[in-house]
Amino acid sequence: MSSGPSSLNDLIASQEDLLQEAALALPHEFSRCTFSLGPIRQAVYLCLTCATPRGICSSCSIACHTDHEQVELFPKRNFRCDCPTDAIPHACTLNKGIEVENSTNEYGQNFRALFCRCSKPYDPKTERETMIQCLACEDWFHESCLNLRERPSPREPSPEPSDLDTTVAHDDDRSDTSSGLPSPLISAEDYDAFVCFACVSKIDTLRRYAGTKGAIMVVSGGENSLWRKLEGDSPTDSHGSHDDSLVDIDDSQQPTTKRPRSRSSSQNAGRDPKRPRTSASPSPCLAPTVNSTAETILNNQPSRLKVSGSSQGAGDVFLTEGWRQRWCRCSHCLPSLQAHPYLLDEEDTYEPPEDPDSGLSLEELGLRALERLPRDRTIDGIRAFNDMRDGLMEYLRPFAQEGKVVEEADVNRFFEALKESKRAQS
Ligand SMILES: [Zn+2]
Ligand SMILES: [Zn+2]
Ligand SMILES: [Zn+2]
Ligand SMILES: [Zn+2]
Ligand SMILES: [Zn+2]
Ligand SMILES: [Zn+2]
Repeated sequence: MSSGPSSLNDLIASQEDLLQEAALALPHEFSRCTFSLGPIRQAVYLCLTCATPRGICSSCSIACHTDHEQVELFPKRNFRCDCPTDAIPHACTLNKGIEVENSTNEYGQNFRALFCRCSKPYDPKTERETMIQCLACEDWFHESCLNLRERPSPREPSPEPSDLDTTVAHDDDRSDTSSGLPSPLISAEDYDAFVCFACVSKIDTLRRYAGTKGAIMVVSGGENSLWRKLEGDSPTDSHGSHDDSLVDIDDSQQPTTKRPRSRSSSQNAGRDPKRPRTSASPSPCLAPTVNSTAETILNNQPSRLKVSGSSQGAGDVFLTEGWRQRWCRCSHCLPSLQAHPYLLDEEDTYEPPEDPDSGLSLEELGLRALERLPRDRTIDGIRAFNDMRDGLMEYLRPFAQEGKVVEEADVNRFFEALKESKRAQS
């Protein structure tokens, strides 16, 4: 964009250029509901205004529930958009026919806006901890609930940034508050995937690998001591015998109440719940020796989940880089993996299709640009965008009527005034 004087038409053209650039940066089409694609892994949104524990796709979150309060639930697998179904009272604007309620979607606590094993709502304004998604159940967990750190005190809700407000003027690192926390026991670089205890305990292969090399379990370091990583490195960590008489290692005692997964239920049919004890199978089992400490923790967990309450550890597992390649795939181990295909192959997460269309209105382009904003700011953002566009046009109209050249400084003045009025409101 040139910095020289320009006419109103030039200015509007350059504003359109900017919006086109924004559209190119997000070349995705948000005009199609994903309902017709069936159950897929996709970003799912919860509409609080519609007040039904159902989920909607990203297009519907923009097109159908624009002015509703929403919570982003992030990717969920095997999920079909509920917006066009009769389970959601608000009519879908993208998929016109009213569809029958989805029968295969699973609605965990996230669909009641609750997260983690502590079942708390997520508030981005006060939450200081990183939340970690379980590979298997796709719920989100606090680092402290995984014993990776002490629970930090909640952050004060931060007011809108303002240079005029002297009470926050020298609070320069407000936006870095989360990085002000000490680093967790296991940081993001140290692992590739996380599986919560509840899921580990339901998947034979994970039970078997938990606490061995590359499948780190967080356990208590002993009485009054800090949490430590159990990863099969220490010689005492991975001996085959176990001396805890309370531990019942009979696998047939494992609860059989598995959450039905539409895609995997048929593959579960031929599954032998018993872990191989002998090498009667044609190919030898290459799984590591069970870590007895991890086994004790997994077997002693109460059926009701506690909030980081176990004295030994919660039984969560962090898988390090390359974990999919490390599983034993012998005839005993493979069925457990096949029942959970994401353990064998990386999953695709649906993204709205690339959209070569360039004939979009300013509003549409603006809406797309807004899709980049964090969800809680988007609703305000749409209003702000419309106000801004209307205001700019009104501000520039006299220039056009008088045939005056619009300088960049004139436009900057408009945005300055807009900022001032925002400050005055807050
Ligand atoms: Zn939809
Ligand atoms: Zn809604
Ligand atoms: Zn819709
Ligand atoms: Zn929690
Ligand atoms: Zn889980
Ligand atoms: Zn094996």
